Amino acid sequence: MADLDTFRAETAKWLDQNAPQSIRGIPATELDGNWGGKKAKYANPDLKTWLDVCAAKGFTAPTWPLEYGGGGLSKAEEKVLHQEMGKLRLPPPLVGFGLTMIGPTLLRFGTEDQKKEHLTKITRGEIRWCQGYSEPGSGSDLASLQTRAVRDGDDFVISGQKVWTSYADQADWIFALVRTDPKAKKQEGITFILIDMDQPGVAVKPILLISGKSPFCETYFDEVRVPVKNVISEINAGWTVAKALLGHERSMIAGTFGGASAPKRKKSRFVELAERYVGFDAEGRIDDAVLRDDVARSEMDTRAFGLTVQRSTDAAKAGHQPGPESSMFKVYATETNMRRHEVMVRMMGAQATGWEGAGFDEEETELTKAWLRTRGNSIEGGTSEIQLNIIAKRVLGLPD
Ligand SMILES: Cc1cc2nc3c(=O)[nH]c(=O)nc-3n(C[C@H](O)[C@H](O)[C@H](O)COP(=O)(O)OP(=O)(O)OC[C@H]3O[C@@H](n4cnc5c(N)ncnc54)[C@H](O)[C@@H]3O)c2cc1C
Repeated sequence: MADLDTFRAETAKWLDQNAPQSIRGIPATELDGNWGGKKAKYANPDLKTWLDVCAAKGFTAPTWPLEYGGGGLSKAEEKVLHQEMGKLRLPPPLVGFGLTMIGPTLLRFGTEDQKKEHLTKITRGEIRWCQGYSEPGSGSDLASLQTRAVRDGDDFVISGQKVWTSYADQADWIFALVRTDPKAKKQEGITFILIDMDQPGVAVKPILLISGKSPFCETYFDEVRVPVKNVISEINAGWTVAKALLGHERSMIAGTFGGASAPKRKKSRFVELAERYVGFDAEGRIDDAVLRDDVARSEMDTRAFGLTVQRSTDAAKAGHQPGPESSMFKVYATETNMRRHEVMVRMMGAQATGWEGAGFDEEETELTKAWLRTRGNSIEGGTSEIQLNIIAKRVLGLPD
């Protein structure tokens, strides 16, 4: 414990000396650059400074081994680091699929050369990654994917199309699933491979949404040459790697809404909304019995879930790899969050109907957009229905 106290004191001092004043309390919307990569643009140059000092200290990936650019910290030390960062209201120095998806997968399945090549670049924020799983005909039935990879000497030649590739237009590398044996049973002919996107034959086309934004892309591969050494694990053994990575992805999505990383507010959001839109009765209760019930239920669900996620996060920190139970967290987190947002927009009434323009302030339009985004959370990383299927089969052991 004395060691941990010393670590806390040293960390608090280091943070205070190294975190630029201008980034303390910065809103998440300004963290665009902190996804890293060659195309990163920082709304505030101090965010890049913050990334660089943390990377040099190993604080972008605190528990990863020192030799791969991590901090080599214990789980307990990582918790202290996050607590001390929270006290100064510091944003994460780096976010993204490198840290949350491909990094943990490489730590488990990568060769020494692959770890040395990729993990250090992830921790320094030099390379931004995207995920090439879904295809136009293969979403829930991911194992039916058709992007093919044909062996040619020391390379694979890859052709096909991925879709819904989040931020592919901002990424430098893609981790992808490709079909290497079309004759094998569908799960057994898939290979997990890393592809440098900056080469001939790779084309990325952003998908324009009704919101005017393009968070997704179509990603095309036309005879793209990729060295065989970029295969993770074995050729045709990609399905096992893919499922392990999905476990990390689902835990990450669940953690965003319920775990220690969920934003903490001084006052319940429901109370703020009640003050502004609904009012309180003489006993100080939300002045609408139905809304009151829904708020109480939502608060209880969220808090109970937060504790469960915390338990699982601690288990993960103790080295437990996420298994099929990550599906329970994913479905419960996203469905609870969706219900929570539905209650909030009901409290706002007609003020929740604006997208932009006069008559609606920024907080209102942001909440409406956040409510609509919660629908996407129940689809990405595998839909709620698919999670329920996995829980039925792999957790509860029910027959097909
Ligand atoms: C915000 C967001 C980000 C994403 N980012 C990425 C990314 O970066 N990379 C990537 O590869 N993909 C990404 N995706 C794609 C995502 O993985 C797929 O949308 C998802 O797997 C569902 O596939 P689909 O869209 O083809 O729907 P479908 O598989 O066609 O499903 C349509 C509907 O049928 C239901 N359904 C399908 N099969 C079954 C079944 N067996 N039992 C019961 N119900 C079923 C589904 O639940 C769904 O409601 C993203 C999606 C979203 C929304």
